Amino acid sequence: MKPCWIDTHCHLDAPEFGADHALAAQARTHAQALGVGLCVVPAVARGNFDGVRQLAHRLGDAYALGIHPLYVPQAQEADLDALDAALGAHRDDPRLVAVGEIGLDFFVPALCTSEMRERQQHFYRAQLKLARQHGLPVILHVRRSADVLLKHLRELPTGGGIAHAFNGSEQQAQAFLGLGFKLGFGGAVTFEPARQLRRLAASLPLSALVLETDAPDIPPQWLYTTAAQRAAGQAQGVNSPAELPRMGEVVADLRGISVHELALATTANALTALPRLNALWSQHLALQAAAP
Ligand code: ZN
Repeated sequence: MKPCWIDTHCHLDAPEFGADHALAAQARTHAQALGVGLCVVPAVARGNFDGVRQLAHRLGDAYALGIHPLYVPQAQEADLDALDAALGAHRDDPRLVAVGEIGLDFFVPALCTSEMRERQQHFYRAQLKLARQHGLPVILHVRRSADVLLKHLRELPTGGGIAHAFNGSEQQAQAFLGLGFKLGFGGAVTFEPARQLRRLAASLPLSALVLETDAPDIPPQWLYTTAAQRAAGQAQGVNSPAELPRMGEVVADLRGISVHELALATTANALTALPRLNALWSQHLALQAAAP
């Protein structure tokens, strides 16, 4: 049997996948054929809460609801009430698995003014509280912000979740693990110059890792083109969940274990980080077993 994978983070509702999500369905079918059994589609703003939910249902996948730090400048206080209401309204929807994507971005200059840093932390804390109230784990956006994210998590503990696109230090990795989080690895780990990240992917306990494509963002090395290549007309490939197995091969190689072992472990880790995935995964396995 070929390995089965869970893509714990992909934005299949992004415009790159077509206005009517036609390309999302295609990408999903392709990924399914390569062994990607489930995808988690996180929301980024109130405006796409309905969109990600409907898309996850259409594709047979999972979704998360939250306000992404890059969307905090436009977000309104009332969007937090809308999130609370949506989490309540869909509490019995087995495809709703987390609050996300939430977090802090201290990389994008416009988000780094003291006013924006405050505003991001306000939205982040409010959403941590909502996750607690609704009994859901969180999917975290961490960019140059791990220590501040961790500080708030210690004050407002949640049921764990995933630090997505993790790219921090060993110490920060251990801090997230200590708070019950898994760390998301994907496209960035496929680049040889990413030495610290590759060292972590190789040396952290296997129980720490989940895989993600973050599609259509963070293309792996084999799809990436430099600015100069793009200027010369060489288009960059579109990252999609179908790239996940190959990312898994890279991580398995770094660790010196088989792809099967890595797929089994990262799938089990995803089910631990996002417990509501368990029911969906059992369904997926049952359907697979029933397939001719
Ligand atoms: Zn994301």
